[in-house]
Amino acid sequence: MHRLLDFGKEALAKHAQPSQRQQMQLITILNRCHKFKSFVYKKARFVDDQGDSVIEVTVVPRRNGQAICSQCERTAPLYDRLKERRFEFIPLWGFRVFLLYLMRRVECAQCGVKVEKVPWASGKRELTDTYMQFLAHWAQKLSWQEVALSFRTSWEKVFHAVEYVVQWGLAHRDLSAITAIGVDEIAWRKGHKYLTLVYQIDANNMRLLWIGKDRTVKTLLRFFRFLGEARSRRLQYVCSDMWKPYLKVIQKKAGQALHVLDRFHIVAKLNKAIDEVRAGEHRQLQQDGYEPVLKHSRWCLLKRPEHLTEKQEAKLADLLQYNLKSVRAYLLKEDFNGFWDYVSPAWAGKFLDRWCTRVMRSKLEPMKKVAKTIRAHKPLILNWFKAKKAVSSGVVEGFNNKAKVTTKKAYGFRTYRAAEIALYHALGKLPTPPMTHRFC
Ligand SMILES: [Zn+2]
Repeated sequence: MHRLLDFGKEALAKHAQPSQRQQMQLITILNRCHKFKSFVYKKARFVDDQGDSVIEVTVVPRRNGQAICSQCERTAPLYDRLKERRFEFIPLWGFRVFLLYLMRRVECAQCGVKVEKVPWASGKRELTDTYMQFLAHWAQKLSWQEVALSFRTSWEKVFHAVEYVVQWGLAHRDLSAITAIGVDEIAWRKGHKYLTLVYQIDANNMRLLWIGKDRTVKTLLRFFRFLGEARSRRLQYVCSDMWKPYLKVIQKKAGQALHVLDRFHIVAKLNKAIDEVRAGEHRQLQQDGYEPVLKHSRWCLLKRPEHLTEKQEAKLADLLQYNLKSVRAYLLKEDFNGFWDYVSPAWAGKFLDRWCTRVMRSKLEPMKKVAKTIRAHKPLILNWFKAKKAVSSGVVEGFNNKAKVTTKKAYGFRTYRAAEIALYHALGKLPTPPMTHRFC
């Protein structure tokens, strides 16, 4: 007979306390997966918690088990006991589970009277460390809201769980051997608010290293302060876009590194210019009473031809018949793709000059603006050819997409802190606290 199952709803319906044997069985499970040297599980029972049946398990110190000072983590003599605290554990078969424990205080020779340290929870947190890891694990697959719903907890608790795991990971990660970084920015929330993200882009270790508010000189200076002088001096490659504050700081703090303006950011600039040309021309055509040939043409002009759908392909073929500014801008952008295929920086440089000259004669203002920027940063752009083999330019782009998905997915992000924690959790490749049992 499955005694263990009796522990469930039927037993509850009768308001019966589980028998000695049933208690043993739940405690046996706990001892299998969540056992501590100096503490033992005592009683397990159902209680009513605001109309919800929950399981409470009493924890007591082992006889002769000495308490540990939470400050210096050394054993110390007992001072007194505080009132009972409830620590939430992983739910079992739809029942929320709580560990109950009378916290002790110790009189530490070094630190004075302090609360003891318990191995299942940290600080004043209500959730056990194990439960926080459990929630954080699911938060990597689901949105925080979905995790909260799935395990009948709150968004805030999921946030605190992820925050705990991220903090642990940040404190325990290895920052040695970083030789290549990519600096990127993403817009978050409306109203031109930016986050600066710094990634490690070494082939053997790619991860989000750091997040800062804004994209100013100060922002990036804070990153280098975090990285420290010794590690900054060991950088060999830095990838970034042409954003002036970044360029300035990188030159100052990692001048020895080969600074590369990466392809993804340059292509993004060209696409933005095409978008401007197209939008302006579309408006003009409408004003002048022409047929709206540019309607629904945005993606035809922005996507690479090989990525177009059949419908978009037909639309593009149609557009190319017209002598439109948008079409000329598009052709110039497509030509620029040839640039990346060069092997020799010298030939690539000659290509760049010719391309810029053509654009400057094009009378397409947004495109001319890009050409001017490209001319001004020619040496840094040509560094791409020197770094081509060492750093993969797709890395920052890939991270950029994931970062956008992460911030979008979590519509619950009301604060910068929440966005920061979610990004580290999703992209930081952080180590996790050790567990003796895999709960998920
Ligand atoms: Zn102490």
